[in-house]
Amino acid sequence: MDYGSGEASEISDSEIDEYEDKSYNCLKMGELQVKISDNSYKCPFCAGKKKQDYRYKELFQHATGVGSSSNRGAKVKANHRALANFLKNDVAESSPSLQLMVIETEPSKPKEEDRFVFPWMGVLVNVPTEYKNGRHVGESGTRQKEQLSRFNPLKVIPLWNYKGHTGNAIVDFSKDWSGFKDAMAFENYLEAKHLGKKDWYEKKHHAPEIYGWVARSDDYYAEGPIGEYLHKNGDLKSITDLTNEESRKTDKLVANLANEIEAKNKHLQELECKYNQTNLSLDKAMEEKEALLQAYNIGMCISPLLSIDLLLHKWILRDQIFCTRGQILGIYIMQVL
Ligand SMILES: [Zn+2]
Repeated sequence: MDYGSGEASEISDSEIDEYEDKSYNCLKMGELQVKISDNSYKCPFCAGKKKQDYRYKELFQHATGVGSSSNRGAKVKANHRALANFLKNDVAESSPSLQLMVIETEPSKPKEEDRFVFPWMGVLVNVPTEYKNGRHVGESGTRQKEQLSRFNPLKVIPLWNYKGHTGNAIVDFSKDWSGFKDAMAFENYLEAKHLGKKDWYEKKHHAPEIYGWVARSDDYYAEGPIGEYLHKNGDLKSITDLTNEESRKTDKLVANLANEIEAKNKHLQELECKYNQTNLSLDKAMEEKEALLQAYNIGMCISPLLSIDLLLHKWILRDQIFCTRGQILGIYIMQVL
């Protein structure tokens, strides 16, 4: 049995169910590998094209998407339908971790299975192109960046192949959470204008405008220029992956800060110690100065005052003596007269 995309050796529509049953049995018998590890799956019918690391839900989406697509060969569709049935009936989805479930209960955050292309990127399709001098040309990335300026894109990269502009472009947003906010705002804005992913994939008739959305796992695994670009320039990460990475970084930062604080505290203690020593010697110096002052006061300051006092005393005494002498003289004269 040929499991490749094998669109060359096609089967008729009447044989499709039979072919699907055969593929389903092969999957059930374990002849084709689907599960890589607990949390990682691959599509055995698209093997060899890209490194595959699907989550359960993503592979299921891939299988149902290809299985029902109108522009794929009957064999490819039959194989993918078989895979979708096999996943639904025979493979149990590994239960999400407790942490993931906590995230899911918060309404503002995206669903736990959503994996985004990181650094955050937006996908633009239906970008108008013109056929000029033998190839397709479109508006420059700079011009489109200006048009999207309210979402703060870092740059817009038009995707080219040998035929020229493919009508697809990628919008780069900054790597941080503000970039994620901008990317989601960009998606919501287009969705509100019916120019989102669903409108692009589910509607048969498209408006002439540009459609766009935030790149997720299905875009990452998509065939064609978008998937190729995303594969080369990004990784798939869930919000939980990123918050875990961040909290690891924060923990490290906190540990570093704690070390720094400890070092500062030690330095502070040393300074306090020095300060106390200085205070002690200052106290001692003050005491010595006081003692010196006292000694000075006694020896140099008070003694002249004392001598003045003594002098005054002397003078007073002298006056008194003089006075007394005068009085005595008076008495003498009185006696003589
Ligand atoms: Zn596939």
